[in-house]
Amino acid sequence: MTLVRVLVLGAAVGLVSLAGAQEKKAGKLDPAKLPGTYEFVSGVKDGTSVPADNLKAVTFIITKDGMELKSPDGSFKFKYTLDATKTPAAIDMEITESPVPDAKGMKRKGIVSLDGDTLKLAYGAMADDTAHGGRALQPGWANGPKGRPVSQPAPTVSELVANPVVRAALDAAWIDSQPADPITRHEEGGWVYCDPATRTIEIRRAPGGDQAFLDLDDPPELPGYFVVATFHTHPNPAAEGWDTGPSQSDTDSAIDLGVPCIIRAEDGIHTTGPDARRGGLTGNPGFPD
Ligand SMILES: [Zn+2]
Repeated sequence: MTLVRVLVLGAAVGLVSLAGAQEKKAGKLDPAKLPGTYEFVSGVKDGTSVPADNLKAVTFIITKDGMELKSPDGSFKFKYTLDATKTPAAIDMEITESPVPDAKGMKRKGIVSLDGDTLKLAYGAMADDTAHGGRALQPGWANGPKGRPVSQPAPTVSELVANPVVRAALDAAWIDSQPADPITRHEEGGWVYCDPATRTIEIRRAPGGDQAFLDLDDPPELPGYFVVATFHTHPNPAAEGWDTGPSQSDTDSAIDLGVPCIIRAEDGIHTTGPDARRGGLTGNPGFPD
């Protein structure tokens, strides 16, 4: 890897936007919507377009804790803080890991906006650029890169059913449903979440329901995660005339909400609805748009 290459990429991460002023003004940034994996669609350094070849095979990953620029030449990691009270939101970034040791500790002040699927991230020049062997970027804002989230596929319902975290949640909900007690048995359940950067699965439980009802319409937001399924129990036994499988409303609501529905009953696990979260791991972090 050459130093020139690194500097071009460094600039491509952080450029800012006069172009932004000419476009539709984005609303206030919702930091919860920022995490995702982005591909570059354009980048400008000092008013000149970054060659498309320099942006190919470069991905930019934002989690709630940091940012990572992955390129064939190596990985840059940043920590960042946001001030979303401003529009566009202000961002302070610092390089924490770099294939070029000298770049570690470099700081940038910038602005960031998210308008639909388009991320714009830009930074102004800092006096210490030259100290790191590069030439200083022009002061003020220069035209910046735009990114588009790469829609990562959501885990499929069969992957989720095989996941130990999901299995444990289904078992816990089943026990909490008190299926052996005809008086107190009731539906339990919640939501399955996935972090697109790490593919980590998380669970949140809903308040307990009634004998044959549970409200799962309002998943709590988990920053950096997307809802990828709902789950609930059917604690009433077939011996008493109950259907243990998905009800028509289970299927209808799963299709409507856009995520698979997983059911735990006395005869095991049933699923209904879509095979995976509609549209992949992008868009609204709760149920998909
Ligand atoms: Zn049900």
